[in-house]
Amino acid sequence: RSKRRGRGQITVYSQEIAQEMKRATALEQALRNAIIADEVDMHFQPIVDLRTDTVVGFEALARWCDADLGYVSPSVFVPLAEERGFIDALADALLRKAAQAALSWPKELFLSFNLSSAQLTDPATSARLLAIIGQVGLDPRRLELEITETAVMADANVAQRIVSELRAAGVRVSLDDFGTGQSSLGRLRDFTFDKVKIDRAFVSRISADRASEHIVRAIVSMCEGLELEVVAEGIEHSSEAAKLKALGCGMGQGYFYGKPADALATMRYLSHRYRDVAAVR
Ligand code: C2E
Ligand code: MG
Ligand code: MG
Ligand code: MG
Repeated sequence: RSKRRGRGQITVYSQEIAQEMKRATALEQALRNAIIADEVDMHFQPIVDLRTDTVVGFEALARWCDADLGYVSPSVFVPLAEERGFIDALADALLRKAAQAALSWPKELFLSFNLSSAQLTDPATSARLLAIIGQVGLDPRRLELEITETAVMADANVAQRIVSELRAAGVRVSLDDFGTGQSSLGRLRDFTFDKVKIDRAFVSRISADRASEHIVRAIVSMCEGLELEVVAEGIEHSSEAAKLKALGCGMGQGYFYGKPADALATMRYLSHRYRDVAAVR
């Protein structure tokens, strides 16, 4: 009897797998079309210097809403583009778009762009990225690239070469989602980064539990010693901001300071703070 049930389950599973594959293929096709039709958008979230409470840059976050499939998260469609082999087409379009938007911001503001794992295993990546911002006319010193520990793990030698080529061109590199993933402190010794972004998982619990507070305190102190800038991700409440400031965390980002917004809304936001931005529009 259990055998029969087992067989039944196999049928159910294979149907599920087939359905999943069909969905992924539909998603892939829709995403390919969206890239061609220029429908994948870039939103921007402010990054704030907690010492002065001023905006110092923006992180670009990809946004895609399909007519049939609805909103699809970048944490779904970026890995899909990697698996199906068209991450370059997607990433190029996104960087071009983000760099173009950054051109109309005040020059002291930086643009932070997320690199995918696949990009970090391709030796051609640094030249490719530099060519795009060169075409757009964005100063490499205004560009920051966010990479994750997991991505660095895939091929540490290639990743290291990409990072040093980019840094030599004036681009800054930050380690994203620090504290999650397959963390290794050795990564901070072997690689040269400019910044560490503390994962939201610690920030969101900083008021609730002592352990998170101790972890953040330790990361901040370690980064001070290593002369790395620290950014706390996912600040949602003023109490979290206050705590992070007290711990000496230099920078922050999160809904409390601003949600990701499209290029136009970002310009409007900036025009309240800078006269020269209002003049652009
Ligand atoms: P990430 O780089 O760690 O980006 C931070 C994520 O946290 C974003 O999610 C952002 O919208 C969200 N976030 C920011 N502040 C808060 C907050 O206060 N509370 C909460 N609950 N969330 C907050 P999003 O936009 O869904 O992006 C998810 C991930 O997808 C990103 O994580 C990044 O790894 C990837 N991603 C997004 N855009 C791109 C892109 O253009 N290229 C690549 N390669 N990856 C991207
Ligand atoms: Mg990021
Ligand atoms: Mg992050
Ligand atoms: Mg993340």
